[in-house]
Amino acid sequence: MIRYKSTRGHAAQKTASQAVIRGIAEDRGLYVPDSVPALPFALSDMTGKPYKEIAAAVISAFFTDYTAEEILACVDGAYDAKFEADDIVPVVKAGDAHFLELYHGKTAAFKDMALSILPYLLTTAMKKEKEDKKVAILTATSGDTGKAALEGFADVEGTEIIVFFPSDGVSEVQKRQMTTQEGSNTHVFGITGNFDDAQTGVKNIFADEAFAEELAAHGVRLSSANSINIGRLVPQVAYYVYAYVKLLENGTIRDGEEINIVVPTGNFGNILAAYYASKMGVPVHRFICASNRNNVLTDFINTGTYDINREFYCTNSPSMDILISSNLERLLYHLSGDDGDTVSDLMEKLEKDKKYTVSDRIRDGLSCFAAGYADEGETEEAIARMYDENGYLIDTHTAVAYKVYEDYRKETGDETPTVIASTASAYKFAASVAKALGMPEEADGFAYVRALHEKTGVPVPSGLKDLEKKEIRHKDVIDKSEMKKTVADCLKQL
Ligand SMILES: *Cc1c(COP(=O)(O)O)cnc(C)c1O
Repeated sequence: MIRYKSTRGHAAQKTASQAVIRGIAEDRGLYVPDSVPALPFALSDMTGKPYKEIAAAVISAFFTDYTAEEILACVDGAYDAKFEADDIVPVVKAGDAHFLELYHGKTAAFKDMALSILPYLLTTAMKKEKEDKKVAILTATSGDTGKAALEGFADVEGTEIIVFFPSDGVSEVQKRQMTTQEGSNTHVFGITGNFDDAQTGVKNIFADEAFAEELAAHGVRLSSANSINIGRLVPQVAYYVYAYVKLLENGTIRDGEEINIVVPTGNFGNILAAYYASKMGVPVHRFICASNRNNVLTDFINTGTYDINREFYCTNSPSMDILISSNLERLLYHLSGDDGDTVSDLMEKLEKDKKYTVSDRIRDGLSCFAAGYADEGETEEAIARMYDENGYLIDTHTAVAYKVYEDYRKETGDETPTVIASTASAYKFAASVAKALGMPEEADGFAYVRALHEKTGVPVPSGLKDLEKKEIRHKDVIDKSEMKKTVADCLKQL
């Protein structure tokens, strides 16, 4: 049985279902498995198998207190016709890389991969644990998690969902997706502040024990849909396993051959899932961490010092406009030899000094990671080059990854077959993508969607069609200091 421990070493161990319900540990740490399970199958035996089968086996291997039937039911509910690709995550070769298209779910970003299944995992866990309280999901979003969580949890019985997004820090399409959300249990607020402010605000609310007691008296318990929740992370491991199987299947690699994985990174969740896949047994040579101009992770991986004493930029890849990457904490924990005290120290330093430097032991562990970043101009060039040379349309985040990968290849000569996590539909960032392709200016984000479709013929995801005609149901913008009061107002009147 795999148990879940806190990265900060001072919280009780939990089963997977308990960890999914709680979201974050009581010592403010994140839940991590006490051991990463080995792959439950030989990779070469899985060629030709559908996504669901691989996903169910991978998730079951981590979440050992769920029965196989329970996980199957969760997977069946999640990865169905909501996805607009029959194979759920197509792997497409373009240029020198294999793009793992993770954005064919309802909200057109990779967040759907985990947030389509999290409500099933959570409600199953609530039944198993005989949870008698309503679970209120608090979510900070840089643009994509919010909408995916809202879609996943809208009208799910026994839950409420509250989302905070940086009012001026998301694309027009992203904002409209959230403000038009239907569902009687959905609550959406813009905040004056950036994603880090939203995430820190949410974490502070989780850490507030008196507030938790107050809510408990109203029959409510808080949980998280951010990638701090282990129920977000584990479903993401599955698609890296699937990608490897696909490359085996199409003859790109031989069984046992290593691949590289490039991930456009913000909160470090997606790339950490790739790391877990390799710990399970997927042969990986390098994890390539791609950042935008908020390149705190590039510097960290190259120097061992994490330093957020720097300017915060709003870029054309807004879902990665983040300085405090929560999930890095999990990697530090594993690389320190599961040492909660070390992680506690580092996180205290980050809060106090806004920086920390890791031990040689952790630095050695980082040697399987490479890192680089792309600025806005380089991102646009990468979109244009990919489209002109290969007729393949990528969004701004995926373009950051592609540019960093090109640089990496030039610098290292490393020709290892490479998978790039393609994290969003270009239509979510239509204005930036149209600009990159040299298209004329349009009146608003929705006109860019239509223009981009006319130019490229790439189908518009149905969730983004007619978005501007939908009723705006959530108009409130609050100050970042009012988050707790806002949560109280939403939940106490239930
Ligand atoms: C969330 C997001 C990312 C960053 O993923 P992390 O898991 O936070 O590192 C990258 N691209 C897009 C489109 C996203 O929505």
